Amino acid sequence: MIKENADMLEGNDKFEGYCIDLIHELSAILGFKYSIQLVKDKAHGSKNERGEWNGMIRELIDRDADMAIADLTMTYEREESVDFTMPFMNLGISILFKKPTVKVPKLFQFLAPLSLDVWIYMATSYLGISLMLFILARLSPYEWDNPHPCDPDNDVLENQFNLNNSFWFIIGSLMQQGSDIAPKAMSTRLLAGIWWFFTLIMISSYTANLAAFLTAERMTAPIGSAEDLAKQTKIQYGCLKSGSTKSFFQSSNIPTYKRMWAAMESSRPTVFAESNAKGVERVLKGNYAYLMESTSIEYRTERNCDLMQIGGLLDQKGYGIATPPGSPFTNALSSAILNLQEEGKLHVLKSKWWKKKGGDKCTEEGGKASGSESEMGLANVGGVFVVLLMGLSVACVIAVMEFVWKTQKVAREERESMCTELIQEIKQILHCRGSTRPAPKTPEEGSQADIITIASLRTVNTVTTRP
Ligand code: ASP
Repeated sequence: MIKENADMLEGNDKFEGYCIDLIHELSAILGFKYSIQLVKDKAHGSKNERGEWNGMIRELIDRDADMAIADLTMTYEREESVDFTMPFMNLGISILFKKPTVKVPKLFQFLAPLSLDVWIYMATSYLGISLMLFILARLSPYEWDNPHPCDPDNDVLENQFNLNNSFWFIIGSLMQQGSDIAPKAMSTRLLAGIWWFFTLIMISSYTANLAAFLTAERMTAPIGSAEDLAKQTKIQYGCLKSGSTKSFFQSSNIPTYKRMWAAMESSRPTVFAESNAKGVERVLKGNYAYLMESTSIEYRTERNCDLMQIGGLLDQKGYGIATPPGSPFTNALSSAILNLQEEGKLHVLKSKWWKKKGGDKCTEEGGKASGSESEMGLANVGGVFVVLLMGLSVACVIAVMEFVWKTQKVAREERESMCTELIQEIKQILHCRGSTRPAPKTPEEGSQADIITIASLRTVNTVTTRP
């Protein structure tokens, strides 16, 4: 790599990186001096149709350089034209892909387990079944009971399933809470049983799906391996324009890779990248997978958390230092590399340049992400709180309405002004301790008009009666 302040520096000092440190170590062991030059065509080296090499391999053959030290893969084809030292790093081809973006959970995420249609059907079923229960209970003679069993002469029958109670019973079972009324007739019991079965299945399905939906931001990539890439045409894929990765696919006999090569070759615009940096740029734009060497993938994914490796390695190979054919330095360099390997220096260099220098950026985030998989934040369940607050507000409004309605009724009965009655009621509510308060006046205590009004009030009861 070229240093950031390279303009102010001269010669070898302009460069930094793993290879620079490696050659420095080798020169210290073997005692040679060196001057670093960048390869003119910026290519690693591949053979064209006429059998001519380009890149670093070409410069070695032409003896423009004494050694090529880079992420230069040792291949059989290259080995035929140049010499290689012992490998100093092992790797394989893998797939670089953009991480699927994390979906921000919606406020009403708790509705997600069931589709809108199902919610509408559920609401309709609730209304329908409640009405049905009301009608069936009215039809069935077994739902009409004597409200005072000790008084056999009582000629009034009572039906517990008025409209209110029918809705209350059905919602009670839908919410798995039950209610204090129960059907008695065969028909209403059957209806209740079927509704309970329905709610059992619906609530179980909802609960089972809910966990998955609340953690839906867990990311899943559309592809999981090279086979997946080969099978599809939606996501484009490519590799470095002139390098060993391209040669791997070009010369492979494995059907999947053959298929991938055919797809890559026929793709327009080209899917081959001028440099690994350009390939990575294209991956970040999306809908493109880049076949790159695992070492380079590891280097990039350590620094850019939007990138990820897909699947394992497609092959096994190594990077070696290339020298011109018959070079006298090859053996000495190989021994020095072995020496560095045994001393653990190669490992130290790898972690220095991969992890320490600008790497390790995604571990913290990764840790957080895996932690948040099991925890649900407010973002996941916020909607439930909203519903709770909405219900609470509606209940408060209804309570005020009930209070005002009842007070104006009493005010009319007692022929008092609404304001006085309201103040009296509020005072009573505020002053009374415990859960008791004076009962409203009995009909005997009131006038004839009062008796009639209170009698009519009694029809607004929780039960329906019939003679
Ligand atoms: N390291 C490779 C090479 O030596 C570059 C690549 O093809 O990814 O050509």
